[in-house]
Amino acid sequence: MSNNESASPTNFIRQIIDADLQNGKHGGRVHTRFPPEPNGYLHIGHAKSICLNFGIARDYAGGLCNLRFDDTNPQKERQDYINAIQEDVRWLGFDWEDRLYYASDYFQQLYLFAVELIKNGKAYVCDLNAEETRAYRGTLTEPGKPSPYRDRSVEENLKLFEQMKNGEFDDGARVLRAKIDMASPNMNMRDPTLYRIRQGLIHHQTGEAWCIYPMYDYTHPISDALEGITHSLCTLEFEDHRPLYDWVLDNITIDCHPQQIEFSRLNLQYTVVSKRKLTQLVDEGHVTSWDDPRMPTIAGLRRRGYTPAAIRTFCDRIGVTKADNSVEMGILEACIREDLDSHAPRAMAVLNPLKVVIENYPEGQVEELDAANHPKDEGMGSRKLRFTREVYIDRADFMEQAPNKKFKRLVSGGEVRLRNAYVIKCEEVIKDDSGEIIELRCSYDPATLGANPEGRKVKGVIHWVSASEGVKAEVRLYDRLFNHYNPDGDKSVESFLAHINPESLVALTDAVVEPSLLDAQEGERFQFEREGYFCLDSVDTTAERPVFNRIVTLRDSWAKIEKKG
Ligand code: ATP
Ligand code: MG
Repeated sequence: MSNNESASPTNFIRQIIDADLQNGKHGGRVHTRFPPEPNGYLHIGHAKSICLNFGIARDYAGGLCNLRFDDTNPQKERQDYINAIQEDVRWLGFDWEDRLYYASDYFQQLYLFAVELIKNGKAYVCDLNAEETRAYRGTLTEPGKPSPYRDRSVEENLKLFEQMKNGEFDDGARVLRAKIDMASPNMNMRDPTLYRIRQGLIHHQTGEAWCIYPMYDYTHPISDALEGITHSLCTLEFEDHRPLYDWVLDNITIDCHPQQIEFSRLNLQYTVVSKRKLTQLVDEGHVTSWDDPRMPTIAGLRRRGYTPAAIRTFCDRIGVTKADNSVEMGILEACIREDLDSHAPRAMAVLNPLKVVIENYPEGQVEELDAANHPKDEGMGSRKLRFTREVYIDRADFMEQAPNKKFKRLVSGGEVRLRNAYVIKCEEVIKDDSGEIIELRCSYDPATLGANPEGRKVKGVIHWVSASEGVKAEVRLYDRLFNHYNPDGDKSVESFLAHINPESLVALTDAVVEPSLLDAQEGERFQFEREGYFCLDSVDTTAERPVFNRIVTLRDSWAKIEKKG
């Protein structure tokens, strides 16, 4: 394999491929595919599969990866999901070039292979209804019983299958089944269904051309083989289906036999990664949309402000194994924090403003002060801040008396440095009738711009924004969508919905940001100094009013909470 710098770490699947290449298996080719069903948006679990499949194609000489829509279930599939999936894969940094396929591209070939199976006595039309089929199948401890229709003649099967295709029967009246082994210890091999009847559907790709639809276990191996896939990577729940995958390919005339390899699904703590549950969150209005920044979807993570690089790093870091595991949210958050720490320009935003009037500063004066965009990267340049007589600081940065020695912010009669500007001193605290602090009267020391004050130490530095020059903004603080580490797995509640975190979104509508942020572009990311990493929301921002999403806090505040238990 090539050793380019951006290659992912090795794993047991890459080791299998290395060995296959050495032995000349699959003609020395490496060809994978990512096969989503277009019945929802992609989530972070899919990112693991995308990074694995497309990553292998990227890292091996001549490697290819197809994008294939596994679209054999038209009821739940939609064109807008197809579009969103393509956008998300591209955004993650991967490209299928001209290899975009649909399982439905193969409906005619799949039909002909089924006819071949029938002709060879390997498949039959069965009239048992769903309940009877279940009863005949047996259990894990008891063998199944052969269907009374199992020994239909080839001619009768051919005729019935054609009638099924021609729409002569109702849904559920008949199915086509493989004739394998009703006593197999593997339930998947007990004459599995290959085709079912679905009348009256309009398929997003094939319209009304078909009223019989092939099952996943039949469609998947054939689609893989038709595309020349060498390594068909899927999640562990398909391990028991592998004998069927191989049976299908061994019993039809096709000259490619891909190798199915299973790996463990990604489970991420404090969220759910199942399209069914994510669909429920959207449909029932627990979140605003599939791209709600709290969703673990790729679209949600993108809108929240995650970078593709951070998600790829995350997938590399969690690795690929056969061990079931659940990954801490902190690992994903660390990946975006690291990326943004080095790449995000700094800016100042006051989330909960408290007005400060600097009484000895000239009224009407606007002073432009230089501020570096990044403390460690001069190449990121600088910007101008506008200093004025009235500024805002955050309410959390003032207390009349310090509660303890650690409080290095502003107190009554105390001094603090305004970041990139002057040292100010709090002379007077103004309160309203209810006793709430509404304004601070301060003085400033003109000798302290970029210089230490004479004869005293001022340790605290706080951020600020000019009251007259600043821009009103909405800042949305996001937290984990669930307050249980495994919302899905808690059997003591009726539904995972019981664990939704009611504080997963706090919208601060009075925030004020420095004027340079008016030029921010959709999706642009910043570190708001001392607050966290934020991104300009691409949906709700208007020309007059920017909306910023908190991507992640500066530090992992949950680590402490989790330790305490
Ligand atoms: P869901 O249960 O969310 O619907 P799925 O497996 O049915 O997931 P598909 O659209 O069929 O979703 O998945 C496309 C590919 O992504 C499959 O190869 C699947 O194995 C993989 N995949 C889905 N979820 C995960 C996950 N959590 N971790 C790793 N891979 C996943
Ligand atoms: Mg699925």
